[in-house]
Amino acid sequence: MNNIPASTQSNILLDQIFSITQDLYKEMSHPSEDSSDNHAAIFKLLTALARNLVNADRASFWKWDKRAHELWTTAAVGTGRITIPEGTGLVGKALAERRTIVTNDPYNHPDFNSDVDKKTGYVTKSILVMPICNCKGEFIGAYQAINKLDNDGKFDLEEDCRRLSLAAFICGITLESETFLDDSHHDKLTELKNRMGFYNDYTKDYSKILNDTEAVRSVSLFICDIDFFKKVNDTYGHNAGDAVLKHVAKNIRSTSRICDGVYRWGGEEFIVILPDTGIDQAAETAERIRTTIMQSVCQFEDLEIKVTMSFGVTQIDPMKSIEDNIKDADEKLYKAKESGRNRVIK
Ligand code: GH3
Ligand code: MG
Ligand code: MG
Repeated sequence: MNNIPASTQSNILLDQIFSITQDLYKEMSHPSEDSSDNHAAIFKLLTALARNLVNADRASFWKWDKRAHELWTTAAVGTGRITIPEGTGLVGKALAERRTIVTNDPYNHPDFNSDVDKKTGYVTKSILVMPICNCKGEFIGAYQAINKLDNDGKFDLEEDCRRLSLAAFICGITLESETFLDDSHHDKLTELKNRMGFYNDYTKDYSKILNDTEAVRSVSLFICDIDFFKKVNDTYGHNAGDAVLKHVAKNIRSTSRICDGVYRWGGEEFIVILPDTGIDQAAETAERIRTTIMQSVCQFEDLEIKVTMSFGVTQIDPMKSIEDNIKDADEKLYKAKESGRNRVIK
């Protein structure tokens, strides 16, 4: 664009920006089917916006998953989803130091990771990493632009940041609402999803499995509740009770399959939903979890606390509402409590 007058260059850039913002508006008003959960199409467009604004060959958007302590992106060309531990690479450094980083000699930069280049044969000549924050000043991700196409292939810290701030600002607001929604689906204490997370996943995934028109598929669920949990609080204190909840949640999660959904239903009650699973297999999983919990010990300060759990298992009847199915599991749980606790009833 070097021989084109500056005013014409600005008009071209504005035109590119408006095309992207129009696509963003369309995507927000009519989300594409495959993008409804992770907003992949929106982040792809926000990445295109960043790339155009700084006139880079490539751009990627890195999301900081604070719960998993990692940074991930799907926008890098030539590779699938890339995940790195937080605090690593140029993106990690920019986020840790809360500042924009520009390098026009990346292979000699101590924080540049050349693994992707080695794998794909791409040559990185210049990089700009700009952290993105929300309105409260919390950093939530970062833009990375690679290989400046004009200005002798060099990013300019001042001018390129000025331009990229438009995309960072929009992305910050978009991400903040997404982070907020994600937080509202999780329980802070156990880090499991909560009741809202359950209903969201049920509508999005599990109800679709039950209504699969190509195959008959079954989904089961169980509710489990810690026995005499009030006694734990009364005997050892509320903090010890919290430690037991975390311990139990961790054991339920690690004793279930990845595809099973584990939720803190409330208080000391948990729900596990098992796709493509009949009642007998679900009861076997519940039994395995019951034994694991019974045999495990929760260490809290110098205390060793042992608890047991009761389980109510049901296979979801797609003709009934999810509330009625849960009620069914709850009735089984009540029977398990009534008949002596520390058992599975199906
Ligand atoms: P049962 O075997 O019949 O289930 O008896 P229980 O004592 O477990 O049941 P109950 O419903 O009487 O008591 C549940 C207790 O769980 C009461 C409540 O204070 C405690 N609880 C609920 N949420 C939390 C929490 O987040 N942390 C702690 N420490 N305690 C909690
Ligand atoms: Mg209980
Ligand atoms: Mg209870």
